[in-house]
Amino acid sequence: MECPICRGQIQKKHFRPNWDLANIVGKVRQWDSSRSSVEEAEVNLCVKHKKSLDLFCEEDREAVCVVCERSPEHSSHTVLLLEEAAQKCKEQIQTHLQTLKGEREKLKEFQVRGERESQEWMDFRSTLTRCEKAKLQQLVGVSPELEKRVVNSYRINKALKETLKTFKGTEEGEGRHVSVTAGEEEL
Ligand SMILES: [Zn+2]
Ligand SMILES: [Zn+2]
Repeated sequence: MECPICRGQIQKKHFRPNWDLANIVGKVRQWDSSRSSVEEAEVNLCVKHKKSLDLFCEEDREAVCVVCERSPEHSSHTVLLLEEAAQKCKEQIQTHLQTLKGEREKLKEFQVRGERESQEWMDFRSTLTRCEKAKLQQLVGVSPELEKRVVNSYRINKALKETLKTFKGTEEGEGRHVSVTAGEEEL
């Protein structure tokens, strides 16, 4: 005898029937076959008219039989063949999926753009912070008057430098006296 799983040889003397298991298997088999036949019949038959449910009412979103279709309850409703309704449902799902796919793509794009923008923003922020720190150190306590004075002193400095240049140039050539006059003219 051969084991159905490992295909190893089994000695018949080691073979011991498991009656409990056999009972359970038997009951499950019985229950399974009876249940599936009953259920199939119930699923496909109208509860009210015991006719097969070949139609689908769009308004009520339920399967109906031919008698149901002719009843006043569904007279004003759109009733399709079950296959037709299934096809329509499938198409609707497809369209819906397509829309979802498109939206997902858009979201992805937004995410990528958002990440890029936030990266740019972070770079900008860090640059700004660096600049701010440097600028703040320069600007802290600067009043308009002080600013004016700084600008003025810059102008004076420039003028002085120009004067000094002239002074130096003339010092070498024509002597101290001339250069001082030239410097005064400059100022
Ligand atoms: Zn019916
Ligand atoms: Zn209906």
